[in-house]
Amino acid sequence: MTDAPASTRLASAYEPGTVEDRIYAFWEEGGYFAARVAPGEAPYSIVMPPPNVTGELHLGHGFEDALTDTLVRWHRMQGEPTLWLPGEDHAGIATQNVMERELAKEGLTRHDLGREGFEARVWQWVRQLRPRIYEQHRRLGASADWSRDTFTLDPHIVRAVRTTFVNLYNDGLIYRGLRMINWCPRCSTALSDLEVEHEEEEAQLYYVRYPVVGEGGMPLPDAVTVATVRPETMVADTGVAVHPEDERYEDRIGRTVLLPIMGRELPVVADDSIQPEFGTGALKVTPGHDPLDWDIGQRHDLDVIVAIDQDGRMNDEAGPYEGMTVDEARAAIAHDLEDGGFLEKTEPYTHSVGRCERCDAVVEPLPSEQWWVAVNKEYAPGVSLASAASAAIRDERIRIVPGRMARTFLNWTDNLRDWCISRQLWWGHQIPVWYCDCGTMTVAIEDPDVCASCGSAEIRQEEDVLDTWFSSALAPHSDLGWPDDTEDLRYFYPTTDMQMGYDIMFFWCARMVLFGLYNMREHAPEGDIPFRTVIFHGLIRDANGVKMAKSRGNVVNPLDAAGQYGADAFRFALLTMGTLGQDMKYTEDRMVAARNFANKLWNTTRYVLMQLEGRLVKRPHAADRDTLALEDRWLLSRLEGLEGEVDSLLQAYQVGEAARRIHDFLWNELADWYVEMSKVRLREGDERPLAVLAHVLDHGLRLLHPIMPFVTEELWGKLREHLDDDLAEALIVAWFPKSAGVWRDEAAEAAMSHVIEVNRAIRNLRAEKGLEAGARPAVYLRANGQAAALNETAAATAFTSRVEPEVTGADAELPAGEYAFARVGDTEVALGLPEVDLTAELTRLEGELAEADGQIARLEKQLANERFLERAPEAVVQGERDRLAQARARAEGLRERIGALGS
Ligand SMILES: [Zn+2]
Ligand SMILES: [Zn+2]
Repeated sequence: MTDAPASTRLASAYEPGTVEDRIYAFWEEGGYFAARVAPGEAPYSIVMPPPNVTGELHLGHGFEDALTDTLVRWHRMQGEPTLWLPGEDHAGIATQNVMERELAKEGLTRHDLGREGFEARVWQWVRQLRPRIYEQHRRLGASADWSRDTFTLDPHIVRAVRTTFVNLYNDGLIYRGLRMINWCPRCSTALSDLEVEHEEEEAQLYYVRYPVVGEGGMPLPDAVTVATVRPETMVADTGVAVHPEDERYEDRIGRTVLLPIMGRELPVVADDSIQPEFGTGALKVTPGHDPLDWDIGQRHDLDVIVAIDQDGRMNDEAGPYEGMTVDEARAAIAHDLEDGGFLEKTEPYTHSVGRCERCDAVVEPLPSEQWWVAVNKEYAPGVSLASAASAAIRDERIRIVPGRMARTFLNWTDNLRDWCISRQLWWGHQIPVWYCDCGTMTVAIEDPDVCASCGSAEIRQEEDVLDTWFSSALAPHSDLGWPDDTEDLRYFYPTTDMQMGYDIMFFWCARMVLFGLYNMREHAPEGDIPFRTVIFHGLIRDANGVKMAKSRGNVVNPLDAAGQYGADAFRFALLTMGTLGQDMKYTEDRMVAARNFANKLWNTTRYVLMQLEGRLVKRPHAADRDTLALEDRWLLSRLEGLEGEVDSLLQAYQVGEAARRIHDFLWNELADWYVEMSKVRLREGDERPLAVLAHVLDHGLRLLHPIMPFVTEELWGKLREHLDDDLAEALIVAWFPKSAGVWRDEAAEAAMSHVIEVNRAIRNLRAEKGLEAGARPAVYLRANGQAAALNETAAATAFTSRVEPEVTGADAELPAGEYAFARVGDTEVALGLPEVDLTAELTRLEGELAEADGQIARLEKQLANERFLERAPEAVVQGERDRLAQARARAEGLRERIGALGS
C-alpha cells in the first residue's frame, strides 16, 4: 500500500447530468466505438434497426438501444472486434406523409413543387434530422460505430438496391402485372398486405334482388337475392356466383340476371369458393373492387369494371353516381334500390375493414399495374425465396429467440404470396426501369442514356418507387458494402445478432432473410444468412397495459425519461421490465427504483473510496483464503457465483434477468451486508476488508457496465487509482469478469447465509415487539452447527442489528427476564425484552387494532361496490384486495398479542 493517489472523493449524490456528456465524449475521443477488422479473431456484429428519419426516437427505440448496447459492450469487453452498425431509414410513405403535411401548412402540395423540387425539400430536411437522431442515441449511451453510419438512400445503398432489382428481374423473380392491390386513396399509393390494418366495424348487410332474365331479355318475377356490405360497388358487378352444389340455385346456373339500376345482364356462375351459408349463398361478383371477386372473375373470364377511382370517388362507370365519394354513393344506391323495390331487407353486420396503417383511410382494393416479387418461383432447382427462408429457420442456421416464435415465422413464409414492391410515391428508390416507345423496357443498375433495343434516347424512367422495406431488407449485407467485395463484408458478414420488435417480424426480419439468402447465396452454406440469431422483443405499453399512442396522450419520450432519471436508470428500468418476447409495462415506479439503484451504487463506491483514500491495494489472493474472515470468503464466493450466472444469462440473451441478479448482489450482498459488516472491522484496524471491497466493487462495476455504462465508467475511473493491478485505461474496454472458480466456498456461503437469516430474525423480533431504535437489547443465540460463524460475526451483528449478542450452547439457560423467540435453522434466537408497562402496552395495541379494523371496514365496503368494480382498472382493484388482506393479517396479529398480554 504505497503510492498514495490523488484524492478521489465523490460528490455526495449522483447527478447524471454532470457525468453523462463528459463520459460519452471520453469514449468517443478514445475511439472505442470504432470496430477493428482483425482477421483470425471472431468478430461480433449487429446492425441497428434504422429508425425512420422523420422524427424522434420513441420508447421502443430506447429499449432497443439499451438491449443492443448491452450486448455490444459485453462482447467488446470480452476483447472481440465489435461492430454496432447504425443507420437511418428514408421511410418512403411515412416521410412523404409528414413532408406533405408540412407543405400543407404553407398551402402547398407536392405537385406545386414538382418531383425534383419535392425531393430536394425532403433532402434538406433529412440533413437537419439525421444529426438529431445521432444525438438521441448518444444521450442513451449507444456505443455504435458512427463512422460507418448508413442512410438507406446513400449512393452505395442505391447501387445495392438496383443490383438486387436487376438480378431478381433477370432471374424472372420480378415482374410487372395487373393484380388486385390495396390502394390508399389518401396516400395515393399501393400498400402491401402488411401495411393494411384490419378492424372489425359495424355495417349494414344489404339484401338486393337481381331479377332473373327470361326469353327475349325480359325480367321475370323470379330473382336471385345477393347480400353485400358494399352496394356502391354493384355498378361494377359483372356476374353472380353460387356454389355448384347449392340446390337452391341449381336451375339458375348458366342463366343471366339483371343488374338493378344499371340494367346490365350478368351471368350466374358456379364457383367452389362460394360459402353457401353466408347471406343468401349467392354472391355478386365485382372483380374490379374485391380481391376474392378478382380471382372468381379470372376463373370465369368475367369482365373487370373499375367504378371507383384512385382518389376514392365514383367515375363514369358509375353512371348517375359519378363524382360521389364511396360513402355518398352507398347511401344514394341504397335509396334507389329501395325506391325500385330491389332492396329486400338490411340487417346489422360486423365485418373487417382494412385501413391504411399510415393515415387510417379506408383502403380500396383496386386492380392495378404494379411490380411484384415472385416469392415462390424457383431461382435454382427446388429453391425459391420463400423456401430458402423457411429452410434456414428449420435447419436452425438462423436461431430465433424466443424459440416459440419460429413457428410464427414459418407459418408466414410457408404461406407467402407475391410481394407488391411498387409504391406510387416520390420519396424513395425510383424503380430502375426505363420505358421506350418501341415497347422495350431497359432494366439497369446505372441510368441508361438510350433504349437497350432501338437506341432511342427518348426513354423515361418508371415513376414508381420501391417499398421502403425493399432497401431495409438488404441492410446486413448492403450496409457492409455489398455489392462490392469489401473488407467489412468479408469480415463482419454474416452478422452475429439482430433484434427487433415482434411486430416487424414479417416486414423486416423475414425479408432480410429472403434477400440475404438470395444475394449472398454464393457464400452458402455459412455466409449467406444475414444473421445467426434474431431476438424478438415485446412492445412497451403504458402502466395500464395500453398501447402507447400520441392520440392517447400516454407516450413517454425516452430522452425526457433519461433526462429526469439518468440514462443508466432508464436503461436498467427498461431492461428489467419483463421477459424477452413479451409486452412490457412502463411505470414511473421502476424508473424511481432504478435511479435509487444508481444512487446506492454511487454511495457504496463513495464509502469504499473514502476508506481507500491515500492507498493502493492489491486484489485478494485465493492462496491466502485462510487469512480472510468468513464474510470475505463468502462475498468472494458469491461474486464468482454471480459471474457464472451472468455469463450464462447473457449467452441466452436474458439481459433483464442478468441485470436483476447484478442489482441484487450489489445492493443486498455488497452494500447492505458486507459494507455494513466491514465498518466494525475497519474501525478496529482490521484492514483486510479494503482489498475485498476494492476487488469486488471493481468486478461489480465491470459486470454492470454493459447495462449502466455511464455511472460505472465514472466510478471505475476513480476506483482504478486504488487498485494495484494492470488495468485498462477505460472500463468500456476493460475485460469482462468470468468466474475462475477459485473462490467458490460452499461452507462460507452456508455459514453467512445462516448469519444473515439470524440477523433478519433479530430485526423482525425488534420490529414486532416495537423496540425503540436506540434500544440495544441482549440477544442469546443458542447455536448448534453454526456457532463458530455466529461467534466470528458477533461484532457485526451487534453493530448492524443494534443488539448485544451472546452465542451460547444449544442447552444454555437464559438469564431471568422476558424474551421474544425465533428459530433459524438449528439456532434459537432469544431477544431480551424490556420490562413493559402492561396497561400502557395494552392501550397502544388496542388503538392500533381499532385503526386496522376501521381500514378493513372501509376496504370491504369499497370492494362490495359494483360501480367501483366495474369502472376501476383491474390493477387498482387488485391493489385494494391486497391492502385488505394485509390489514386483516395485521389485525389478527394484534389480536393475538393483546390476547397474550391479557392472559
Ligand atoms: Zn394512407
Ligand atoms: Zn426502344
